[in-house]
Amino acid sequence: LSRDLESLRDLPSETLDGHRMPLWVNTGLMADVTRSLEQGAEGVGLYRTEVPFLLRERFPSEEEQRQIYREQLEAFAPRPVTMRTLDIGGDKALPYFPINEDNPFLGWRGIRVTLDHPEIFLGQVRAMLKASEGLDNLRIMLPMISNVPELDEAIQLIQRGHRELVQEGMDLALPPIGVMVEVPAAVYQARVLARRTDFLSVGSNDLTQYLLAVDRNNSRVADLYHAFHPAVLQALCCVAEAGRAEGKPVSICGELAGDPLAAVLLMAMGYQVLSMNATSLPRVKKSLRNITLAQATAVLEEVMLLESAVEVQARLHRLMQESG
Ligand code: PEP
Ligand code: MG
Repeated sequence: LSRDLESLRDLPSETLDGHRMPLWVNTGLMADVTRSLEQGAEGVGLYRTEVPFLLRERFPSEEEQRQIYREQLEAFAPRPVTMRTLDIGGDKALPYFPINEDNPFLGWRGIRVTLDHPEIFLGQVRAMLKASEGLDNLRIMLPMISNVPELDEAIQLIQRGHRELVQEGMDLALPPIGVMVEVPAAVYQARVLARRTDFLSVGSNDLTQYLLAVDRNNSRVADLYHAFHPAVLQALCCVAEAGRAEGKPVSICGELAGDPLAAVLLMAMGYQVLSMNATSLPRVKKSLRNITLAQATAVLEEVMLLESAVEVQARLHRLMQESG
């Protein structure tokens, strides 16, 4: 089986009826980069910038960050690299920046932290922009957006960072800016968010957690954490539809994108990019290459009428057996 998957590397990610489905990767460490390139990734849908921050004993300087980001951007150029601004809080704590809260997942995390510390945000954006000089493959993505003013404030800071660097003499285009849809409020405002930005990307890990009120890391309620829950599927359809209506690309970068069964549904919903861990990529490609878009669309229609995650899963398993 593994040789079978390996031989897939140079084959296109497309269905039997020729629908292309770009497969991108999620990265954090340089080791992920090597693995991703080996698997034939077409881009980076989520570079978790907090990973290099977590490995240090203090905040990395703008220049240190520039070097780290440059490595990522260079390794994938000319393919796009989507860099997410710092997403700490929740379950991700920097040892040198402690946050103590009773409900960390509902507290000070992601964009909320960096908008309260614009110097952290600006330093990061400036480092990303500097790192992209001459490569032109940077995209910037914002985590945990739950309202429009937050988004506007973040965009203004990015524009300010860009303006500063141009004034300092750098030749830089403003990169595409996107929003993560991972808070339920963002699902309902997906069209407004899409209108103000260049792309949307669903963070299904947090979106599932927040829609179902199930802590993604609590094993006691792990049975309730299910991305095939019909409510989650409705939300995913809604975001894809919002992107379509606004003419903006929609991708997904949560773990769900790396599930071969889910990938089929997400393609049928209209997602234009699936971004996953490099190790999931061959299996997802294999499942997409074994079906037609027409089949996937028909199954999506059926699945959207089902009433529980268990039924959805069973239907998808049956599809996989039918298509070999
Ligand atoms: C997500 O929430 O789905 C996501 C991709 O971000 P993270 O897992 O880093 O919170
Ligand atoms: Mg998240």
